[in-house]
Amino acid sequence: MHTFKQSPYWLSPSGNGDDYIKTYPSLEKNITADICVIGGGITGVMIAYALVQHGVKVVLVEKETLGSGATGRNTGFILSGTVEHYNRAVTFWGKDKAKRVWKYTQRNHEILKEIIKDEKIYCDYEQNGSLVLAVTEQEGKEVRETYALLSDDGFSCEWLSSKDCAELLNTDFFTGAVRMPQDGGFHPVDFVSNISETLKKQGVSIFEKTPVIDIQSTGMENSLEIHTANGKVDCAMAILATNGYTQNIVPEFKDLIVPVVGQAFVTGPVQKSMFREVIYANFGYEYWRQLPDNRIIVGGFREHAKKQIINFSDQIDLELLDGLHDYFTNIFTEARNVCMTHAWSGIMGFSKDGFPILGATSAYPNLFICGGFTGHGLGFSGAIGFTAAELMVNGFAPDADLFHINRFSQKVRNSI
Ligand SMILES: Cc1cc2nc3c(=O)[nH]c(=O)nc-3n(C[C@H](O)[C@H](O)[C@H](O)COP(=O)(O)OP(=O)(O)OC[C@H]3O[C@@H](n4cnc5c(N)ncnc54)[C@H](O)[C@@H]3O)c2cc1C
Repeated sequence: MHTFKQSPYWLSPSGNGDDYIKTYPSLEKNITADICVIGGGITGVMIAYALVQHGVKVVLVEKETLGSGATGRNTGFILSGTVEHYNRAVTFWGKDKAKRVWKYTQRNHEILKEIIKDEKIYCDYEQNGSLVLAVTEQEGKEVRETYALLSDDGFSCEWLSSKDCAELLNTDFFTGAVRMPQDGGFHPVDFVSNISETLKKQGVSIFEKTPVIDIQSTGMENSLEIHTANGKVDCAMAILATNGYTQNIVPEFKDLIVPVVGQAFVTGPVQKSMFREVIYANFGYEYWRQLPDNRIIVGGFREHAKKQIINFSDQIDLELLDGLHDYFTNIFTEARNVCMTHAWSGIMGFSKDGFPILGATSAYPNLFICGGFTGHGLGFSGAIGFTAAELMVNGFAPDADLFHINRFSQKVRNSI
């Protein structure tokens, strides 16, 4: 029998949610702004934060509540890199691009860290590093190659043999690992909720329970109408920070940002400290970390889903969840006697090539998109918020080319 709560831990009272989450009114009239940010996950708030620094008037509208999308349903890792191991990224995209993207994500971490410090954002931030664990012999070879390539490219990292992994983790399940000391984790909802207070003080108008139902151009240059359920935002520009939900507003994005369901659970506090780093195993399909109060949060197993049903609901696939729990507790038997307290699902946005997409849409040149994080939004959101703001305000931003829509074929781009 399942006795856990079927709700996202970070958004629940025991995850601090009820005490800390700030609430905002819904939009009930017509207003104006320079730029409207659509979506109040970590990407939306980071874009708003960066836009304010350019002196523009920003309105942020969120369909539900801030952080209620994937941002409130993840495991809170701030990782270097993308969904691929570095060796594969180098093969797929070339050494230069892979290196630039890894550097970009490490800069993202530095930006988040600085904001947490400067704005005094309470969010259980820890920089204890990550472990990328290999499960099979083949993955072990790839992780070893990843280590060699990362070291060659000047990234600080450490190789752990299967013996090192066994000593560290008290199991012989893993064939090797790379440790990345710069990585870490935080409480994503505390981060978003607390930074929203800063945004409010900086003059950003935030509206929750305000779904965007239509976007229209007035026909005049630099003029958009963002229609919500009970009001309208007239603005010069807008940006969709709606990640996995983007196709619900702009259906043409259905093939470029594909919604993918991820699931996770959290246990009650275990007696001992088992994991220091945030952990990414089996090509990132399974991942876990221990929270400051010794709870363990575990996600993954989507590779075992019989089919991906995207109905944008909160439904949990209990068979998959039980499979994930068994997988984890068979490796780490110490965690067997600790109950799951919460389990949940979330909608991620996967792009065609695993890189985020940032740029103007061809629906309207002043309607931008920033999404498609492919399970790594926390690893990009801080930096990409600044890149997006600069691109919108100045028409150019260093590194924006990495995420440009031009990388897709003309045929794909024409469909947007
Ligand atoms: C189980 C799981 C574990 C994960 N673990 C990690 C991890 O450890 N590290 C990591 O980097 N990433 C992780 N991710 C992915 C990460 O959560 C996302 O990449 C990230 O949260 C994306 O943030 P976002 O703001 O772009 O999207 P979201 O947080 O999904 O925000 C989009 C927002 O847009 C709003 N919206 C949608 N439609 C409308 C509309 N019509 N009008 C107004 N607003 C609208 C939604 O309500 C939502 O709040 C995980 C995801 C899952 C599901």
